Amino acid sequence: MFIDLRSDTVTRPTPGMLEAMFSARVGDDVFGEDPEINALEAKVAALFGKEAGLFCPSGTMTNQIAARVHAMPGEEVILHKLSHIYYYEAGGLMSNSGLSVCLLDGERGMISARDVEEHINPDDLHRPRTAMVSVENTMNKGGGAVYDSRILAEIAEVCRRNQLIYHLDGARIFNALAVSGQTPAECGAMFDSISICLSKGLGAPVGSVLVGSAEFIRKARRVRKVFGGGMRQAGYLAAAGIYALDHHVERLKEDHRRAKELGSVLTEMPWVESVLPVETNLVIFRVAQPLNAARIISALGEHDVHAIDFDRQSVRLATHLDFTDDMLSRTIEVIKKLRF
Ligand SMILES: *Cc1c(COP(=O)(O)O)cnc(C)c1O
Repeated sequence: MFIDLRSDTVTRPTPGMLEAMFSARVGDDVFGEDPEINALEAKVAALFGKEAGLFCPSGTMTNQIAARVHAMPGEEVILHKLSHIYYYEAGGLMSNSGLSVCLLDGERGMISARDVEEHINPDDLHRPRTAMVSVENTMNKGGGAVYDSRILAEIAEVCRRNQLIYHLDGARIFNALAVSGQTPAECGAMFDSISICLSKGLGAPVGSVLVGSAEFIRKARRVRKVFGGGMRQAGYLAAAGIYALDHHVERLKEDHRRAKELGSVLTEMPWVESVLPVETNLVIFRVAQPLNAARIISALGEHDVHAIDFDRQSVRLATHLDFTDDMLSRTIEVIKKLRF
């Protein structure tokens, strides 16, 4: 049994999803003529209470487009130092948009309103103008951590008072909402823009949607073209996204349950130093010295359980649509069997 826990992006379309893709009605989306894409954009925008949406090939692109539209070269973005948009997007804030960053610390990758407020630059010609704040929910590097909605609202208030744009990297926002109990519309009301991935826990093969005001999305559409993200008959992909939103949101709780089980088994292993609290579908653990992440990954790999390293000492497991209860039992068996 090949068990792939490297990422929640490894899923393949289900038969139902494939059927939806095959029956998609498509057109040239650069001309705005793809009915599935138009329907997906409208659906996600409505869900989050926003005026408009934009379908893009990746979450990196939706984040990068948002930054490009929201801020001018030389302006600054406040965000956690482990944010995907900074840490895993290859320096795009700088190379795509000429932006400066102000990197914050914070438990499990999360920032606070107070920290944001203290790092807003004064109106001083020596300093980059602070334009935007970006948060990530769930927080990947924080082990799939979920923000307390009150903290997100406090940051929103700081942004409002200081006229800063508030962006959410919601690659895994549906995982977060499954835990916080907030509705997408309540979440949407706090932010100027949100990036939502369809290709993570939702199980679609490709794609992310950016939502915001009609004016913002109008500008974002032009930037998407510049970034090379204008696709043509991509309605086949949008149809998968629509199907995922209709069928794969409720089931995220199952991924969370399986991740929690993995987390609790790992806690008992002598070769595990610690496990980050498991709230959603990501499990990050530190490997006890003198072992390291590479050693654990290769030992698991010998039993066909595949994970990735997060740093020298840390390993990440991600549960997803294609990780079944049988695979969970087998993974637990393998974990308990490892000896060093
Ligand atoms: C996966 C991910 C993205 C976007 O990644 P792509 O691979 O470009 O779709 C953005 N933010 C977070 C937190 C992610 O996990």
